[in-house]
Amino acid sequence: MPELAEVEWYSREWDAGLGRRVTAVRVHEGARVFRGLEAGVLVAGMEGRALEGVRRHGKQLLFGFGGGGWLSVHLGMTGELRAERPDFEGGKHDHLVLVTADAALVFRDPRMFGRVGWDGWEALPEWWLGLPPEVLSRGFTVARVGEFLGRRRGTPLKALLLEQAMFPGVGNWMADEVVWRMRVSPGVLAGEVDPVAVHREVRAVARGAMRTIGRDWSDPPATWLFRHRWKDGGRCPRCGGELVREELRGRTACHCPACAGKAAAKG
Ligand SMILES: [Zn+2]
Repeated sequence: MPELAEVEWYSREWDAGLGRRVTAVRVHEGARVFRGLEAGVLVAGMEGRALEGVRRHGKQLLFGFGGGGWLSVHLGMTGELRAERPDFEGGKHDHLVLVTADAALVFRDPRMFGRVGWDGWEALPEWWLGLPPEVLSRGFTVARVGEFLGRRRGTPLKALLLEQAMFPGVGNWMADEVVWRMRVSPGVLAGEVDPVAVHREVRAVARGAMRTIGRDWSDPPATWLFRHRWKDGGRCPRCGGELVREELRGRTACHCPACAGKAAAKG
C-alpha cells in the first residue's frame, strides 16, 4: 500500500506532463474509483487544459489545471500513477488516462480502493485547506502529538499511528518502523508512551523514507526494519532476534519482541 514516500514518488511520474496541454481524457466510466463522478465532468474539466502543478499532502494528491480545476487522487491499496508513451491505449486497470504531446499520464488501480475526484473552481478546495499538518511540517508539534495521545490513552500505539487525521501519510510499514525504533510493542497503549519519542521517530522515519523511496524508489538503509520485514525468518537489524509477523485486521504487523520493552522509562 503506498504510504507518504511512495505517493510522493508516484506523483513525480506525472511530471512528464507538467506544463503540457491535455489533448484527450480517457475514463473507465462507472469504475469504483470515481465514486459516481461522471466521466463527462473529468473530460470537460481537463481536455484542452494544461497540467500546471502537483501538490501532495500525506497520501493525498492534487493536480491543478490551467483555468481552474483540481484533480484529486488517492492511491488506496494498489493505485499507481505512471507515465506512458503518448500513443498508450490503456488496459483493463487503467481507469484514467490523460494524453499529452509527450506522455500519457495513467492512473492504474487493479483493486480499485483508490479514489479520483474533481473540484471545478479556481481556488484550492476547502477540504484541502482543512487537512491536518504534515508530519514534516512546522505545524506538527510535540504538543499536538501529546494532546492526541492524551485523549486516546487506552488505544494501542500502532492503531493511532495509522490515523490520517494526526499522522497524514503514515501507513502500515512506517507505523511498524516507528514502533520498532521506540523499542515498544505494537500493542503498547498511547498513555504509556512518550510523545517526544513518538514525534521524533515519526519525523525520522518520514524524512528517511522521503530521501530514499520518495526520491528514487531506493530502499531505506539496511539498519531499518523495512529491509527485513517482508519475508519469513527476518532478523532484527538491531539485536539479531527473530522478527515476528502477524496479521492484524488484514495487515501484516512486524515487530521485534526482544527489543520491545527496552525503551527508556517515560520520564
Ligand atoms: Zn530487536
